Amino acid sequence: MATVQIRVRGQVQGVGFRPFVWMLAQRFDIQGHVLNDSEGVLVQAAGPQIDAFIQALSSEAPPLAQIDAVEVSSCGEVPQADGFEIKPSQGQGAETRVAPDAATCSHCVADILSSDPRRHGYSFTNCTHCGPRFTILNALPYDRGQTTMAPFEMCSDCDAEYKDPADRRFHAQPVACAQCGPEIWFEDAKGDRREKPMDAAAQALVSGQVLAVKGLGGFHLCCDATNDAAIASLRSRKHRPSKPFALMGQEDDIKRYARPSKKEWQALRSADAPIVLIPAGAVGLPQGVAPGQTCLGWMLPYTPLHHLLLRAVGRPLVMTSGNLSGEPQVIENAEAREKLAAFVDGFLLHNRDIARRLDDSVMRFTAEGPMVLRHARGRAPRPIALPQGFEDAPEVLAFGGQMKAAICLLKRGSALLSHHLGDLDDALTWDEFTKADADYAGLFDHAPSVFACDLHPDFAASRHAIKRAKNAPLIEVQHHHAHLCSVMAENGWPREGGPVAGIVLDGLGLGDDGTIWGGEILLGTYCGFERVAHLPVSTLVGGDRAQLEPWRNALFRLDEAGLGSVADQLFDGFPRQLLRQAAAQGINAIPSSSAGRLFDAVAGVLGICSAAQTYEGEAAMQLEAIAHTDQPAYPFGEDLSPAPMFRALVHDLQNNVPTGEISGRFHAGLAQAFAVPARNLVRTGKAEAVALSGGCFQNARLLAEVLIHLDDVPVLIHNEIPANDGGLALGQAVSAAAKVLERR
Ligand code: ZN
Ligand code: ZN
Ligand code: FE
Repeated sequence: MATVQIRVRGQVQGVGFRPFVWMLAQRFDIQGHVLNDSEGVLVQAAGPQIDAFIQALSSEAPPLAQIDAVEVSSCGEVPQADGFEIKPSQGQGAETRVAPDAATCSHCVADILSSDPRRHGYSFTNCTHCGPRFTILNALPYDRGQTTMAPFEMCSDCDAEYKDPADRRFHAQPVACAQCGPEIWFEDAKGDRREKPMDAAAQALVSGQVLAVKGLGGFHLCCDATNDAAIASLRSRKHRPSKPFALMGQEDDIKRYARPSKKEWQALRSADAPIVLIPAGAVGLPQGVAPGQTCLGWMLPYTPLHHLLLRAVGRPLVMTSGNLSGEPQVIENAEAREKLAAFVDGFLLHNRDIARRLDDSVMRFTAEGPMVLRHARGRAPRPIALPQGFEDAPEVLAFGGQMKAAICLLKRGSALLSHHLGDLDDALTWDEFTKADADYAGLFDHAPSVFACDLHPDFAASRHAIKRAKNAPLIEVQHHHAHLCSVMAENGWPREGGPVAGIVLDGLGLGDDGTIWGGEILLGTYCGFERVAHLPVSTLVGGDRAQLEPWRNALFRLDEAGLGSVADQLFDGFPRQLLRQAAAQGINAIPSSSAGRLFDAVAGVLGICSAAQTYEGEAAMQLEAIAHTDQPAYPFGEDLSPAPMFRALVHDLQNNVPTGEISGRFHAGLAQAFAVPARNLVRTGKAEAVALSGGCFQNARLLAEVLIHLDDVPVLIHNEIPANDGGLALGQAVSAAAKVLERR
């Protein structure tokens, strides 16, 4: 009988693919074997129903599998032993890939609600189609002994399930039950344990207390989301006056308090289980959850522990990351007791270690589809395919930016963008960063021959890059060019595709002329760019305070528009003359074309967070939240000067036009100012498409307005890679690869 060889590529290891193939073989009476190797899954198969078998490999694949390709080749008449076998892994580098953590599947939820004594109410129930992966991985290959499940010896029941190819838990590395697996307990603030931990935790939450809850990728601080006083107490203890809190709710909670669209439900219910920003519903939650915001960040419970906790409390919970301000999320029990004790009334703990800190991923939906704000749990480590022309790219390692740090690896035509690591100014985040560098190298079996980093010599990541590169080529990629390349790569723009007009509206990045850029039109390819236009510079005085205090940006933008006297009125009592002097003498003052700071300036004039923002992007987020649609655009100068815009804005302000309308007009004006020249670059044949990137494009209002003005020209936007600095490393990596390939 003719035997065929079937190669399956994609995310097919550690997701129950081999037992799935085994089951199909039983069903279609196929002889042969299946195994994992360094390229994915390899099947040898023979039988009269071979076509149906091959068809089913893709059409019925297990839920966590992502198939990139199924390649069938004939191996002639190979005699087959009777039956179908799962063979051990073959060759070097086999099973090097690990899938992202996956939310508890519906079968496992049914198990924890069933009367089965091994699973009923058990917080660590999982199967091949769900459960922890990256967060418990200590080393590769992904076997139980190399995960934080290693200390828990399987009982005979679990062992039998683990070894039975027909069982849903066949080779599920974290498989466990109440007899043999990890356990939870409740500790009050004094360290005393209480009976019935889940009930004790629920009781504490319902009575308005704040708890630290150990989750999958780290600790959350948790309280009743319907309780004003509990939220206020969490805010004051955490010194976090207004940054929005994420919420976790069961489906009924979300239906009650929000209005998710079909796509938003899909994302919420996916195995990635991210936080999704969703418009608030008719029934409100306390303002304190997300002051000034019209969207709330929701997620569904994604571990059995969360499912059980939410059922026990019967209401949505605030679930914000458990950390000290500026530090990464706490992951260890002892660390939690030490650092979080001041914030909480109790702890819901467990004894399975978290190998790797992973924040919750965050996304939102616009008319243009998904938008990823934070790439983390559930999404990493999942490789993405690179565009045509990068098949022979060298192995590149790119180190990203300073804030929202993330690294990116290229290998064999795909890219691996790391999870969100945080702000590298913090020492603990820095440790995470260096750990991730080693981690991902192992994961991807990576031996980089080319390195890439930002142009900014003072970025910790750039200094690290110099050390790591040693004598290998280190390619510095300008910040906003990297943003442009990231959106090109995400959209499959071919390496040798024509030039693209990039509208990059962003915070701050060092330009190649030594000034700080951030409101740019770049005409470029992966290899290089021309700076076609930019916001005229304004002065940032006072280093970090220029970013924290919107009135500082407002002052200079008003002065530049000839509205100094308006600034004097609006900012009476602020040290205006001091700043003006500093700017005139160039003391602690830097010129910048940042678009992010222009948003701050407008907010400052409108009295939104004028004196200070309490978190990054607060003023801009509030401006977006209040912006009315269908407003006339404020005028900008030919040279993109915002001075005419400020004059029109101040005129409206003095005529008591509502701030929502003013904000709408600003968004429309900024969008038009940048979209029209970018569109003209395409219409005149200088560019083949317009690409939108930079942190400001997390603003859905701005994105929508820009798209209106781009009319019918081809546009590349971000859907899966963050528009903010979280996506920077991908752009650096592809730009560096393109430069090397071009020189060959
Ligand atoms: Zn499951
Ligand atoms: Zn067991
Ligand atoms: Fe940036």
